[in-house]
Amino acid sequence: MIVAATFAETRRLGSGIVGLVPTMGFLHEGHLSLIARSSASNDTTIVSLFVNPTQFDDPADLERYPRNFERDRDLAFSAGADVLFAPDESEMYPREPLASVVVRQLTDHMEGSLRPGHFEGVATVVAKLFAGIQPDVAYFGRKDAQQVSVVTTMARDLSFPVQIEPGATIREYDGLALSSRNVFLSDADREQALEISSGLFAASDLIDDGETDAARIEAACLDRIGDLDLEYVQLADQATAQPLDRLDRPAFLAVAGSVGATRLIDNVAIDRMNGQWVVDRGERLAERSMLYGENDAAGS
Ligand code: AMP
Repeated sequence: MIVAATFAETRRLGSGIVGLVPTMGFLHEGHLSLIARSSASNDTTIVSLFVNPTQFDDPADLERYPRNFERDRDLAFSAGADVLFAPDESEMYPREPLASVVVRQLTDHMEGSLRPGHFEGVATVVAKLFAGIQPDVAYFGRKDAQQVSVVTTMARDLSFPVQIEPGATIREYDGLALSSRNVFLSDADREQALEISSGLFAASDLIDDGETDAARIEAACLDRIGDLDLEYVQLADQATAQPLDRLDRPAFLAVAGSVGATRLIDNVAIDRMNGQWVVDRGERLAERSMLYGENDAAGS
């Protein structure tokens, strides 16, 4: 259990098969499930902890993003991390960078079109983690479905010798997808926020019944959304993140919206198994998430 602040030290500490779990901290059970998977399959599990400013399109969102180093360190190690890579900004960006990574097409819709520069920030920081740490396997949550397709494409197109492993979306006991930003939600906010997962589950039931028309699937989801400030409901190709008219390949149904100042995204993944479309709704916690423990964001 070692905290490292530089790429060089982190790389040296990675022996055998190295798994990497990139995070922005304020860890919850979604992050911990990725860490536990890496720890079960690899010799060394490295968790990176860096709130990456270049992927925030809204300075206020970056400013208030929850942070608590001691809490994250303890949780990462208890979930099976061997090394916590916690660089400061001067290690990650020693100078104003002139090079960056742009993934075309996959970023034309949804998060890519609504958050200018977001995926360039993500792809660039993930490429830097791959180059600087040289992991064999890297774990990303399906909660960020478009991010999984962007990172997978980036690694393949740039020949990074790393295997990308997507992990299931972990949900709170009531269905809300876990997100570090959930700590900002009041009880009333949560009621609105639940419209997202409830819409996704209603659409999933329709898919279970054999519906493949995107407009009808999206409408079933929209039906559940009332008070939420909705940005999109979109059925998209899992590999390319392009909108689909019909469910005819592995896909995800994604939703984005805001509750007050808190922006939330969620999705369900849809895969073909034994000649049928099967919806992965994620996994629910049995009880209240660790996000709401005593160690709150103010303790950082
Ligand atoms: P973040 O710290 O939000 O940047 O997330 C770090 C990693 O954890 C990303 O790969 C996310 O997709 C993943 N992640 C975040 N929330 C969840 C969740 N509820 N279930 C599974 N993975 C998640």
